[in-house]
Amino acid sequence: MYNFKDLQQYLATPRKAVILPHQKPDADALGSCLALASYLGKAGHNTTVISPNDYPTFLNWMEGHDKVVVYDNGNEEKSAKIIGEADIIFCLDFSSLNRVDKMENLVKAQLGKKKFVVIDHHQGKEDFADFELWDISAAATAQLIYEFILMDEGSHKIDIPMAANIYAGIMTDTGSFKYPGTSSRTHRIAADLKDLGLDTAKIHNLVYDNNSENRIKFLGFALNQRLTILRPLKAAYFAITEKDQQRFNTQTGDSEGVVNYALSIEGIRIAAFFKEQEGNVKISFRSIGDFSVAELAANYFNGGGHKNAAGGILRNSNLDIAIQTFEEALSSMLSVKIENQ
Ligand code: 5GP
Ligand code: MN
Repeated sequence: MYNFKDLQQYLATPRKAVILPHQKPDADALGSCLALASYLGKAGHNTTVISPNDYPTFLNWMEGHDKVVVYDNGNEEKSAKIIGEADIIFCLDFSSLNRVDKMENLVKAQLGKKKFVVIDHHQGKEDFADFELWDISAAATAQLIYEFILMDEGSHKIDIPMAANIYAGIMTDTGSFKYPGTSSRTHRIAADLKDLGLDTAKIHNLVYDNNSENRIKFLGFALNQRLTILRPLKAAYFAITEKDQQRFNTQTGDSEGVVNYALSIEGIRIAAFFKEQEGNVKISFRSIGDFSVAELAANYFNGGGHKNAAGGILRNSNLDIAIQTFEEALSSMLSVKIENQ
């Protein structure tokens, strides 16, 4: 395992770097990748961000997004070539290799051949990297990118577009600075970025006030027709069929954040968003307080994440099975909790 000095020494020579976010990257994953790509580029490295699949259109203002190679957009061979020629692979906002979806085997084949760096804040880290900046108490990976740059004494290289990408990651992963993971350090970093001259209100506007009409109509439909409240379990969930998505022509990112509406109901402590997807069910979980949705996702839904925000997937399944699994898992986890008290 490298320490930071070893990594700095390795990066003292220009390298070919590949930077990977997790599948379906959010603002934190993509913003972190683009900010790091820009930073490494300024030091003379050749960098390519390869995303396993596409990202929400409300992120297409981020500097560098247009150069991202989207693997499953017909770029499988191109990605394999770039990865094959790389010296070092950065894994940002994930630390278990199944999070790169269809790229998993391609990336795993590089273990032992390339240097690997993990910068992440998720639970469930696998041990494969030569250097790790892994801190589950960090509010966002973008916060750790900022720390990485400070460790490298490179803060003077942070320009406004980089600051915007870092800020967007921190802003979204903290729910605009409201989740409990938001530390005084998080606010200080945001203040530093503002001091640089970043127009922070503009970033909020670009991300949150750019809804398509379809998304808002879909949200109304989901709230009206697809929300179930399980009072005894203090839980609420949305269940969205493939047909619903076709009806509203939903795009990547359109369902992001919808789960929070279930969590915002008074008395509700656990929320889920189930979405049918090509014969699988993809799930987002959120909680308030002590209940760990990371544990729920890891134990019942092949997933993981953080205590209060996690996700998972049931392959070759359907909404009924997923919902039944959810209810049973909650009953069992909550009764264990009560017995232990
Ligand atoms: P979201 O619900 O916003 O997609 O994800 C919430 C959190 O859970 C994020 O930190 C995300 O990285 C993590 N997450 C979402 N889906 C999965 C999954 O299938 N596996 C794991 N390990 N983490 C997930
Ligand atoms: Mn994140």
